[in-house]
Amino acid sequence: MRPSPLWFETTYRCPSCGAPLVYIEKGGAAVLKCQACGGSVWTELREAGRFVVGGRLEWRRFMEFLYAAYAYRLAMKA
Ligand SMILES: [Zn+2]
Repeated sequence: MRPSPLWFETTYRCPSCGAPLVYIEKGGAAVLKCQACGGSVWTELREAGRFVVGGRLEWRRFMEFLYAAYAYRLAMKA
């Protein structure tokens, strides 16, 4: 049985509209998404492996990586 998608609001804010960004894990992807303006960025979940040090995921660094990708993508669109 497939686990249901992981979903939670983060403390990061959308640089475009200021709404809280939502983190979603689904189908092998990690997604950071703004539900207000529809902006999103995703990466393969195995990318998180780059942030594992000594068997532990450095979760904050992984989130910062995703958030930086989100902000970058937004800047490219503008
Ligand atoms: Zn937004």
